[in-house]
Amino acid sequence: MCNKEKLRVWPAVVRKEILHLLKRLTVKTYGDFSLRIPGEIVKIFGEILEATCWAMLEIMDRANGVGLAAQQIGLRERICVIDTLNQWSSQTLAELDGKNLLCTEMDITPFPLFLINAKVIDRSKELLEQGEGCLSIPGVYARTKRPQWVAVSYQDQHGFFHEIRADGLLGQCLQHEIDHNNGVLFTDESRVHPGDLPTVQIALEKFSHQHPVNC
Ligand SMILES: [Zn+2]
Repeated sequence: MCNKEKLRVWPAVVRKEILHLLKRLTVKTYGDFSLRIPGEIVKIFGEILEATCWAMLEIMDRANGVGLAAQQIGLRERICVIDTLNQWSSQTLAELDGKNLLCTEMDITPFPLFLINAKVIDRSKELLEQGEGCLSIPGVYARTKRPQWVAVSYQDQHGFFHEIRADGLLGQCLQHEIDHNNGVLFTDESRVHPGDLPTVQIALEKFSHQHPVNC
């Protein structure tokens, strides 16, 4: 079922809120202050949160992204949405909900993933060098060095708790989006490959001029 078809099955109040959010929210780019504010813990689960998740997914899809965090659209909560299904490769994923299974992502991951209050609870010692980009920093790509896999705890949009462990694109995406929830960007010195730092810093200057930060 595509996202538009899913929209039709929502109660009118949720559908109305989704459409309202889609009119109001846009992707913020580098230099916008909202990208640097650490997210707040979500405590209220209900129709507004549900609508926010689906609106975020729609915004992400329209931008051809595979992940989006609330901070990228100017919201304060610790919410991110991920859908790497179309980009699926050979990565594996283990769901830790007491099963400790090792399965393919296609078999087990309920895409799209709505992650509320997500946090990394374990990570591999091995680091992986990969290319990375971000909807909030269009046109800038660089290598990052991140743990090869991470285990993440999160709540879904209904408040139920889950834990997943992922490598490959999903593992990278989880780390990237949780970084957003913490006000961290992949171009930060703590994330970007040192060899790419000089060119990244030059590329970022044009965003700083376009979107001056008010001190
Ligand atoms: Zn990003």
